[in-house]
Amino acid sequence: MARRYSDLTLWRAALSLSTIAALLAVLIALRSFGPVDRGRDIVHWQVTKYKDIKTKTVERATSEYSSTIEYPVTPSSAINAIIAKKIDAYSDVFFAAIETRYPESDRRFSQNTSYQIVRYANGYLSLGVSTVRDVGLAERVKTRDTAYWTFDVKKGKAISLTDIFSSSPVDGPARVVLYTKQSLRAKMKKSRIDIDNALLDRVVNPARLANFLAPNSSSIRFDFTPGEVAPASIGQLSVTLPTDNLQLFMQNDTANKLFSVVSLGNVHAYTPPSQADTSVNCDTAKCVALTFDDGPSPYTGRLLDALSKSGAHATFFLIGQNIARYPQAVQRIHEEGHTVGNHSWSHPSFTRIKDAAMRSEIDRTNGAIYKLTGQTPTFLRPPNGAIDANVAKMLTAVNMTGMLWSVDTRDWASRSSSAIYNRVISGVGPGAIVILHDGHKPSADALPRIVESLQKDGYVLVNLDELVGPNPAPGKIISGTD
Ligand code: ZN
Repeated sequence: MARRYSDLTLWRAALSLSTIAALLAVLIALRSFGPVDRGRDIVHWQVTKYKDIKTKTVERATSEYSSTIEYPVTPSSAINAIIAKKIDAYSDVFFAAIETRYPESDRRFSQNTSYQIVRYANGYLSLGVSTVRDVGLAERVKTRDTAYWTFDVKKGKAISLTDIFSSSPVDGPARVVLYTKQSLRAKMKKSRIDIDNALLDRVVNPARLANFLAPNSSSIRFDFTPGEVAPASIGQLSVTLPTDNLQLFMQNDTANKLFSVVSLGNVHAYTPPSQADTSVNCDTAKCVALTFDDGPSPYTGRLLDALSKSGAHATFFLIGQNIARYPQAVQRIHEEGHTVGNHSWSHPSFTRIKDAAMRSEIDRTNGAIYKLTGQTPTFLRPPNGAIDANVAKMLTAVNMTGMLWSVDTRDWASRSSSAIYNRVISGVGPGAIVILHDGHKPSADALPRIVESLQKDGYVLVNLDELVGPNPAPGKIISGTD
């Protein structure tokens, strides 16, 4: 009995071996002559926590690969198409990898595509899709691709970075590029990774940042795939920029709906009282206000020399803790007819600190300035231009006018005095308020040429008291007219 049994087992084994061989032959033939077996779709539908968004999951599995793809299905077919196009392009990359795989490879390839909604509110949908592929690279390395959008659901289209800065005379996207690079560098430094500046400059540009995520009403996020800006080993890098210091550039409807934006007033030229015959009337004259932040500094004297030589006036937004080091400079600023403004005691972003701290930053600085000049400043320039509704409320409490700017020289980021000069000259118009920085040598170097060239063009260089009057809009935040 035992023997017969064993014969039968052998017989079965032989049969199944030949079956397997035949199957293998068929498979090999298919692989050599036909396209990859794309398998059969298994489709599931799932609800999400958003009642008008569903998830369509498409699964396929063969002996060679497995594929799971999640498609978000929104109320807008246009948006669904934009997302599906991207996801399908990722899938094409995956199948192309399968078709070119080594037949000997025993790895089962896989792709897993999923999406994540970071915010869906007020008709705006911000989401990302990412795909993780295992296509038989060495050491089980998987590749990852990410794409993301912020959609206007009603219009069925993605909002670009340009859209949210559409009203800005300043190049908002360029500003975002700058901040994004700064943030990436800081992250890499923290992770002790060599920074490839050439790669950063090549990759991080307005086109690459055209799409963004808006995780909440006060930040913009950009994700970078592993290897895109830094070695793949550190994984995906994400940059989240606060919008509080971009508000000057976001004065338009789209930005207003997507983010909480404090609306800024525009300044109007000031008509001085008639008895002030010596004052300039900026309603008729071509006035420009140069403003210098972050002083006093070792360069303040040079700035004052250049201004007084040409009878030009300017405004100095002082940092309280610098004042004690250069008291004579502060007195000279005041005596030579320039406006002294408050730029906080220690330069924190006012949107990040408590009310009491904000109040103390303002009061201490006003006190230090009053002691030296006998006048309390009425203009406040919030550090980093960071503002929100709370900062505006504080301005009402201290009865001051918040003052931003209309021409951004970005001098602090430039080592070239001629670049700074060019940005001023190409940016100004009547009523312009130009931001420059005290304590930055290239700006001090550029000033004599700036003054000379503006005066030659018929501009009168005035301080803010002359341009808009002292304290023209207490409790409001304003910027230049140009
Ligand atoms: Zn500053």
